[in-house]
Amino acid sequence: MITALAGGVGAARFLTGLVRVVDPKSLSVIVNTGDDMELYGLHISPDLDIVAYTLAGIVDEGKGWGFKGDTFQFLESLRKFGCETWFNLGDRDLATHVYRTMRLKQGLTLSEVTVEICGALGLETTILPMTNDKFETHIVTNEGMMHFEEYMVKRGAKDVVLGVEFLGAATAQPADGVLNAIENAELVVVCPSNPVVSIGTILSVKGIRDALKRSNARKVAISPIIAGAPVKGPADKLLRGLGVEVSALGVAKLYADFLDTFIIDSVDIAEKARIEQLGIDVEVTNILMRSLEDKIRLAECIVER
Ligand code: GDP
Ligand code: CA
Repeated sequence: MITALAGGVGAARFLTGLVRVVDPKSLSVIVNTGDDMELYGLHISPDLDIVAYTLAGIVDEGKGWGFKGDTFQFLESLRKFGCETWFNLGDRDLATHVYRTMRLKQGLTLSEVTVEICGALGLETTILPMTNDKFETHIVTNEGMMHFEEYMVKRGAKDVVLGVEFLGAATAQPADGVLNAIENAELVVVCPSNPVVSIGTILSVKGIRDALKRSNARKVAISPIIAGAPVKGPADKLLRGLGVEVSALGVAKLYADFLDTFIIDSVDIAEKARIEQLGIDVEVTNILMRSLEDKIRLAECIVER
């Protein structure tokens, strides 16, 4: 059994390769829910949907989120009522949100609805929300504290990050199956996701970090930072906001207490020795995933060690 820790787009790109190298049924993916929020009365789970749509082969690959070829007439109509429409919710995507919200209202947990949604999409891989409890990532800026999606999508990540708050982290429990998936895995892969707001959130849920330390699984992470910069997204701004160096080494330090092996890019070979000093093995290879072949090769490199 293989278990992956995942955010959204970076993780989904890697997982596309992984499910071609291992039996998709043997894979469980623990997904960040810190980006979840309520909008228009709907429960939005951005990272759960990105991972599910990508593995189902229906994601808009250019954007990395949403349905391929979706339209946005619902949002346009909503705008007429004076609603804010900065969060892009396509017409086909809307069905997932209506269904999720309806089932949550009927008393199902987020885990249970996720099982249903993945079933409807024909997925064989198990997708586990990190928690079923309310957990929201908020970013502290000069304009005040705001939900991560507001910082990211509405304001285009333009604010200086002064801090990051995980609302609900003090009480949120891991969702059903999460700790088991870590404890019973042979291999745990930390996907190349945002180390603060995608992986950092998962690691902040009670018991998850300890389960990782305890697990006999081989624990491998792929750096989301190449040549001192994220491939995409605001990881650099968030790391800087927390006083963490924007480098593979900086990320390795965040995972050092449980990690066995860190995969870094060939251009970062100069950091290898310093990461090894943290007690982590380092593999150096090409970790920029441009094509499906890149994704498969990276997955093979991890699985076949
Ligand atoms: P989000 O929730 O959609 O922002 O997605 P994630 O947190 O999963 O992914 C964002 C991270 O993915 C960023 O820090 C990127 O640097 C990283 N990323 C995206 N594409 C690649 C890639 O091809 N290779 C590596 N190593 N990292 C990537
Ligand atoms: Ca996300």
